[in-house]
Amino acid sequence: MNVQPDLEFIKYIKGAGGDTLKKCYQCATCSVICPLSKDGKPFPRKEMIWAQWGLKDTLVTDPDIFLCHQCGDCSAYCPRGAKPGDVLGAIRAYAYTFYGWPSGLAKLATSAKNLPILIGIPALVIFVMWLLSGAMHIPTKEHFATHGYQQFFGTWGFKWYAKNIFFIVLFMVPAAGLAVLSTFMGVRKLWRSMSEKAGVNSSFRPSVMQFVTDFLWPSLVEIVKHSRFRECKVNIDRVKGHLPMMLAFIGLFIVTCWSLLKNDVLGLFWPSLHGPLSIYDPIKIMANISAVALIYGAFVLWTNRSKMESEGLSTRTFYNWFLIWEVMAVGVTGFAAEVLRWLGIPTVGYIVYFLHLVAVMMLFMYMPYTKFAHIVYRTTAMAFEKYRESPFAKN
Ligand code: SF4
Ligand code: SF4
Repeated sequence: MNVQPDLEFIKYIKGAGGDTLKKCYQCATCSVICPLSKDGKPFPRKEMIWAQWGLKDTLVTDPDIFLCHQCGDCSAYCPRGAKPGDVLGAIRAYAYTFYGWPSGLAKLATSAKNLPILIGIPALVIFVMWLLSGAMHIPTKEHFATHGYQQFFGTWGFKWYAKNIFFIVLFMVPAAGLAVLSTFMGVRKLWRSMSEKAGVNSSFRPSVMQFVTDFLWPSLVEIVKHSRFRECKVNIDRVKGHLPMMLAFIGLFIVTCWSLLKNDVLGLFWPSLHGPLSIYDPIKIMANISAVALIYGAFVLWTNRSKMESEGLSTRTFYNWFLIWEVMAVGVTGFAAEVLRWLGIPTVGYIVYFLHLVAVMMLFMYMPYTKFAHIVYRTTAMAFEKYRESPFAKN
């Protein structure tokens, strides 16, 4: 076989936490140990040799790289200290950039040295919006107690649509839209590449409903239950952080959807719906519980990852830490803004709220290119794993 190694790819993997790659001597202990590896389709031994050979195209179309939950069991037992869990993590990081669109933004989001730009873009956009809105004020204590952050971007006489909502929508919706578009394009490309490589028959396809009920829904149930995560042994504590974080995101998603519906749709007919929610409002309670769960989950993952790194089971990488930092920033600034509102401290409250908007916009903007993307790519790979074993793929 004539192997054409992609040297740039090998260099990237080594720089993204897979620097132990070359230590692997193909003993296959990792594939035996891995609790998620299937008998007929074992991993990560084969991925290690493919990565050593620089077979980029083979690896980015391999569903197994996304099925790995980075538990570290294989790294703990590897006799050569090749850290296959980290190598697979580095390959996934590369894959998110490979599938990400636009490619310039995807590349930007993968390096720690770009952090000032990654923070600077949303910070500048929101600051310019604040200037354009003409609001540029710090409210009095009385005003702050009545309106909270609902007039951060000012107010106007048009009672059917709040000025604050208008300006937030102006930058958050394009950021979220870009993320959705990029994710859709990436997932479509991944599915096509995996189907092509697996030799799946493309003329016999399930209906959309069949696809959802037979492949997507069972995968989502597994994800919500954390069934695969619970099979990990060395690093089982990670479930205690990952599960509350995932539930927090679901809670915050519901809160955001309700907020959009209330302010952008229902508020047009009933202007009284605009305004801060009482702390006893069920949606507000859900938002606060989700924020606490988010901070708790991020804290557990933070300590867990630090422990793995100090024990030599994992390498410190920007890819692994960026998401934890981002989530922590969203949770802490959101919760702190709320506390400052209760305490009636407008100056610090407005600064923290500005930082909160920056953190949220960063989460949206960089979602398809960072570790956050595993939500969709892993779900896609899990659905594909079921699909490739079905009669649809084999006929
Ligand atoms: S990564 Fe380690 S355990 Fe896996 S095949 Fe290579 S040497 Fe063996
Ligand atoms: S990190 Fe865990 S899930 Fe991933 S290959 Fe290793 S043992 Fe399997």
